[in-house]
Amino acid sequence: MLLAQPRGYCAGVDRAVQTVEEALTLYGAPVYVRKEIVHNKHVVTTLEERGAIFVEENDEVPEGATVIFSAHGVAPEVHAQARARSLKAIDATCPLVTKVHQEAKRYAAADYDILLIGHEGHEEVVGTAGEAPRHIQLVDGPDDVDAVTVRDPAKVVWLSQTTLSVDETMATVERLKRRLPLLESPPSDDICYATQNRQVAVKEIAPECDVVLVVGSRNSSNSVRLTEVALDHGARASYLIDFAREIDEAWLAGASTVGLTSGASVPEELVQDVLAFLAARGFTDVTAVDTAQEHLTFALPPELRRDMKAAAEAAAARSAG
Ligand code: SF4
Repeated sequence: MLLAQPRGYCAGVDRAVQTVEEALTLYGAPVYVRKEIVHNKHVVTTLEERGAIFVEENDEVPEGATVIFSAHGVAPEVHAQARARSLKAIDATCPLVTKVHQEAKRYAAADYDILLIGHEGHEEVVGTAGEAPRHIQLVDGPDDVDAVTVRDPAKVVWLSQTTLSVDETMATVERLKRRLPLLESPPSDDICYATQNRQVAVKEIAPECDVVLVVGSRNSSNSVRLTEVALDHGARASYLIDFAREIDEAWLAGASTVGLTSGASVPEELVQDVLAFLAARGFTDVTAVDTAQEHLTFALPPELRRDMKAAAEAAAARSAG
């Protein structure tokens, strides 16, 4: 077994899941969450069991109730809808997604055409595009490049979704630059550190592996990308699974080396379940392949921290009285 490191939870997912947990403790159930807080079945089910109610839109939340926005970010109109319904909104958007929103706003204010490389319909892309709908065009991979039209080829920038394949994105950018030589790049990487680090680790193990298993859900963009990266870098096969029980033993037939990683929204316990499943089938020799150290953490959303502080002060005053 080759076990990729880093894998699993990133700082943005950790913060988003903790936001829902702390909100449940502070306000009590139910707490409403617009969209899946992170794209992972197990995480969503576990939070539902604790009293989170997942909805698709704000109009499913009772007036005045608490609603948490997911890690993928929302368009400004979603905040406006929440205000109109007097919802108490807590924004768990990952700060690295917020950074892309800020870039979109800044370039739109300077009247640039913005080419947003990303997957059509993905929540993050919908949220980012909502910041500047008149300036943003979606480019969903290299095949979309020929359809791009811009007002001024000297005033164009590309931005991207945070969870794409680094290599595929650069291929799209190369094609865009052939058509638009003056295309500007974002001031810093939009594909986030966690997405990049997990892809680098998979590239390292894939050439040695007959099979690479990726723990993650089908709607998790970064998890799906990991299976593609594994195949592009030499794995004979790669499978995406939510749980160990989904492993088909036929995938392991004849395999001498199996690689394992997990997407940025996947709790480590699910990886440990896969290791146990494989150990029971003879894959007991596990080597961790470590390609980066991660130390980033994000503070909880300020609106939640404020309420936590007020609750702690009220509890302290009660016990002093
Ligand atoms: S994958 Fe990246 S952008 Fe998405 S939540 Fe994690 S750190 Fe943030």
